[in-house]
Amino acid sequence: MKTLLSERELSEGVDRLSRAIADRWDSRPMTIVGVLTGCIVFLADLIRRLDVPLRVYLVQASSYRNGTTRGELTIDVDLGPEVQGRDVLLIDDIFDTGHTLVRVLAELKKYRPASIHSAVLLYKEGRQEVDFEPEFIAFRIPNRFVVGYGLDYRDEYRNLPYLAVLEPEDLNPRAGAGDGADG
Ligand code: 5GP
Ligand code: MG
Repeated sequence: MKTLLSERELSEGVDRLSRAIADRWDSRPMTIVGVLTGCIVFLADLIRRLDVPLRVYLVQASSYRNGTTRGELTIDVDLGPEVQGRDVLLIDDIFDTGHTLVRVLAELKKYRPASIHSAVLLYKEGRQEVDFEPEFIAFRIPNRFVVGYGLDYRDEYRNLPYLAVLEPEDLNPRAGAGDGADG
């Protein structure tokens, strides 16, 4: 496994991102909606750098993947009064094809938020299949499969404090390990 972004680089990137968000946000209360499960580490670090009144909700988006290939996407958004009339910041770990964020955005818009913006830790260059760009991006990365800092491979590696690129030798299927729904 090769480190792509060190713990320190990640921390500096989240610092910059939180300043960019704060610069464009007045004192309105913020309603953060995080996309599980990959957002957890980024979300925890980001909210502690935001000095505005905020609430946090989580939605589940899972693609039943076979390791590194994208599968069928299911999303479970069960928010109504939490979002209606509020200024929402949608948070995800990585913007890859973009389908996940676009689908979650569409679901949230049904609840008629006052405004909705999105922030991602990572943006994978050259992969997008949608006509939408997140407003806030911490890092642009090459088209490689990455793990750590919340991102998984078959549900593992989320706890790495840095971001790493999986090498082919890391991709050996483990005996008995089933394909997991992740996100
Ligand atoms: P999209 O719908 O934008 O193609 O994919 C977004 C989701 O796919 C992310 O939230 C993440 O769960 C997963 N994903 C995309 N690229 C990667 C990657 O390089 N590593 C990991 N671990 N997950 C990824
Ligand atoms: Mg995800």
